[in-house]
Amino acid sequence: MGKTESVGQIESLKSRIGSEEIVRAVRVQSTVRGAIESYLRKEGYVEISPVILSTLTDPLNHPVYDPSITAYNQKLALTKSMIFHKQIAVQAIPGIFIMSPNIRLETEDKASTGRHLYEFTQADVEARGKSMDDMMDLAERMIVFTIEEVRKNNASDLEFFSRRIAVPGRPFRRIRYRDAYERYGSDFERRISEESKEPVWITGIPLEGREFYDLEDPDDPGYLRDMDLLWPEGYQEAISGGEREFKYERILQRIKIKKQEPESFRTILEMSMSGLEPSCGFGIGIERFTRYLCGLKHCADTNLFPRIPGQPGI
Ligand code: AMP
Ligand code: MG
Repeated sequence: MGKTESVGQIESLKSRIGSEEIVRAVRVQSTVRGAIESYLRKEGYVEISPVILSTLTDPLNHPVYDPSITAYNQKLALTKSMIFHKQIAVQAIPGIFIMSPNIRLETEDKASTGRHLYEFTQADVEARGKSMDDMMDLAERMIVFTIEEVRKNNASDLEFFSRRIAVPGRPFRRIRYRDAYERYGSDFERRISEESKEPVWITGIPLEGREFYDLEDPDDPGYLRDMDLLWPEGYQEAISGGEREFKYERILQRIKIKKQEPESFRTILEMSMSGLEPSCGFGIGIERFTRYLCGLKHCADTNLFPRIPGQPGI
């Protein structure tokens, strides 16, 4: 790094440290984290430790830069999500969560979406034997509780941001992917989010629109038993989740449909050979939640040390 760039970075760090907006957003985010953790614990979920380096991670369904390191004679990936660790962990403990740091080196064109960081945290939840409906219900109750906590503990911060966040009514509205597409076209996520005042679920995403590990709906072939939650007011995706594929032959078949390498997923394939119990789960992005609550332009502004695609961080 040249001297001028490094001086530029220090100046920008100093201005962030001195920014009331950022400090208040960090405070709101701290409440969000605490509320999610305490709600899940109250529901009997057990927090497990994050994994940052692993031989097994999420293939994702969109391109990212994909470095790995070699150590102990193995190639280790940086965790893009703990999806497979979750599936394995619930074999031991019925309900688990992780405040999971994810490294996804998103391409530079994502720098200005306001939604993408290359390092972020998702509260990643999974439960053995639960259905989509069960987990949507849990996510809704958890969000309502978190918003109530933020309204209680961060009233002056919300006022600073001129945000009046109403506690959403339950159950949240649901729209099937197919219906959303038909009514609003390919840009339905943005359009539905922009015209909504409360969070909205999108359910039944097509097989090709998702990674191989979500369960194909036996009653609706070609579509998955999965869901996304959209924040209102144009803030878009909050959550992705779904029931998981757990049968060996079907996981293998789905990996092949995606033209991915079975060897990269050997651990989960072998675990499924000896029998995996079905599970369902979801992940909710902490920075995006905070961005919506504070009405921020970019979720990087929920963090003193932002990770914007294409821009090195301190
Ligand atoms: P996914 O399962 O890939 O949809 O990730 C789970 C959740 O993490 C998403 O619904 C978002 O809230 C959040 N998320 C995913 N990718 C990013 C990113 N690059 N930057 C910030 N948050 C993200
Ligand atoms: Mg998603």
